[in-house]
This record gives sequence, C-alpha cells and structure tokens, in this order.
Amino acid sequence: MRFPGLIDAHVHLRVPGGEHKEDLHTGSAAALAGGFTTLLAMPNTQPPLVTLENWRIAQTQAQNQSLCDVFLFAGASIEHIAELPALAQHAHGLKVYLNDTYGPLRVEGTADLARIVQAWPAHKPIALHAEGDSVAVGIAMAALYQRRIHFCHISRKAEIELIADAKARGLPVTCEVTPHHLFLTQEDAKRLGALGDMRPRLAPQEDVDALWQHINSTIDCIASDHAPHTLSEKGSTNPPPGVPGLESTLPLLLTAASEGRITYQRISELLYTAPRRIYNLPEQPDTWIEVDEQAAYTFPDHPLYTKCGWSPFTGRQMTGRLTRVIYKGSVVYQDGKVLSY
Ligand SMILES: [Zn+2]
Repeated sequence: MRFPGLIDAHVHLRVPGGEHKEDLHTGSAAALAGGFTTLLAMPNTQPPLVTLENWRIAQTQAQNQSLCDVFLFAGASIEHIAELPALAQHAHGLKVYLNDTYGPLRVEGTADLARIVQAWPAHKPIALHAEGDSVAVGIAMAALYQRRIHFCHISRKAEIELIADAKARGLPVTCEVTPHHLFLTQEDAKRLGALGDMRPRLAPQEDVDALWQHINSTIDCIASDHAPHTLSEKGSTNPPPGVPGLESTLPLLLTAASEGRITYQRISELLYTAPRRIYNLPEQPDTWIEVDEQAAYTFPDHPLYTKCGWSPFTGRQMTGRLTRVIYKGSVVYQDGKVLSY
C-alpha cells in the first residue's frame, strides 16, 4: 500500500544546543525510518529561535544537514516581539508556550499572549502549547483577533470538546494529538516511569477514549511531538519530560487500522493532507512511502535511528510495516535501513 511522504508537524530536533540528544542527521534519519519526509521542528532550542538572525542560521543548517525537508517554527517571546513580522515572512508557523514545558520559551499571562497573537499575521498559524483552561484562552484569541490558532498535543476530554464547539461556531482553530496520548494511559505512565513522562502527561482512559471519539471529526492531524532525551538524563533524579516518536507513529496507526479502529485513508489525511494544508507546505515531487499492512512483528523491527536510542513502545506487537521510502525520486529507506544515512 502506498501513502504520500508523511508530514510530522511537531518534532524537537534539539539543534542548536542539544546535539547530545538528537541532531539533524539522526533526527531526519529517524523521520525517514518512520515514513516522514517533511518535518516541522520546534524553536525551544538553545538559543531559542526568537530572532530572525537565529532562526535563519538554524533554518539554513537544517536545510543543509537533514535527509528530508525540515521547516523550523519561529518562537515567540515578549522581549523579541518586534521580530515577529520579519519572522512571519519566512517561517510556516509561530510556536507559543502557555504552559510549562522543556526549554526557555514561555509566555506569561493573557496580556502578553494577546500582544504576540496580534503581532503575527492572520494567514499563518500560531501553534499553541495550551493545557486545561489555557485552551479556552487560545479559543478566545482566535475569536477576538481572527488569528489561526493550532492547538498542539491535545490530550483531555474537556479540551477536545471545547475545540469541537469552537469549530462548530466557525472559529479558525485546528488541533493535533500525539500517538502517545492515543495509545498510552496513566497506567502506562506508572509502568514506564520517566520513559512515560512528557507534557501534557499521559491521561486516564476516559480522556484517551474521548480523543478516539473525535479521531474522524475534530482532530485535524497527528503529530509525534518527538522529544528525545538520553537514557542517562531520563534516569537522573530530575528527568526532563518528553519521549521520542518519529519511528513509532506510523506502526501504531497501521496497527490501529488493521484492528479497524481507523481507516488507512484517514491516516493519510491526519499525517499528510491536513498538516500540509494547515502549514501551507510545498508538495514534494516523486515522493511516496510503501507499507506492508499485514506484516506482524514486535517493535522496533530495526535498530532505532533516533540518537536517544529508546522508545516507550518497545516490545509492542505491531501489524503494518514501512517497507520503502522514495524521496524526490530516490529510494532512501528500504528493509529497515536508511540508505542515505
Ligand atoms: Zn513539543
């Protein structure tokens, strides 16, 4: 079965400043090994990508060193709000952090958020890390200032229901969910310890069920929120939140399709059509992926390419395997190996 080259609209490639966790070479190889040929990477790096100068340097490096297409989000900080109009001419989207997360970028308070939202043009999306009541604040921003608000990694029933209501009223909001919030619960978090800790945290079963109830309607895309940390960092006394996801996302969804929980057509919409439309991403000529939807195996079926080297899904039974990736006319992945690596 063929799919278009998939798009992961939410990854952390850790460049610049976190290259011991992941770099452009390993991160983009993990993308290809997971069926993704386009990545949108987050700006909470060291330094963060909040000025045009820093963003440009990082984008040029990403273009030169990656094995697939990588587009960088611009980051928002109130100190550098004057940079936003210039950043908006180049970046496909702006990332704003309202709630606690890994890294230095966080906008404090609704007044600062309103200033940032208005400084960004109406035609490009603002990707919002908003949890709980902050989702209502994001919806208010979309309504008050007619800005396109994209909610990242929505994980709770109350959140997805608010977004469904906002969409029903015609507000310009979209949202994504992650595979870990679809395929793991609070119970798994106990078992996994630090390897199951991320923001937002894993949720109770009823929240997971609510996400699945909206999988064919409210949810626009699935994004991995690939957030690698080394095993020694995860084993430390103060482990950072975040888990890798580039290589497990497609197998998990193919497995769900083999069980009749989602259609293959819907996977294509969630991982290609919708993110491409939301972020206005270029078409990739002569690019597609091939999967054997019947292959059954224990994950991972090949050594992981992500530099962190682990996955919260290790040992899981999967049905559906990526067999080939053709990227701009060349075979770049075949039988568990990234050929361009
Ligand atoms: Zn993230």
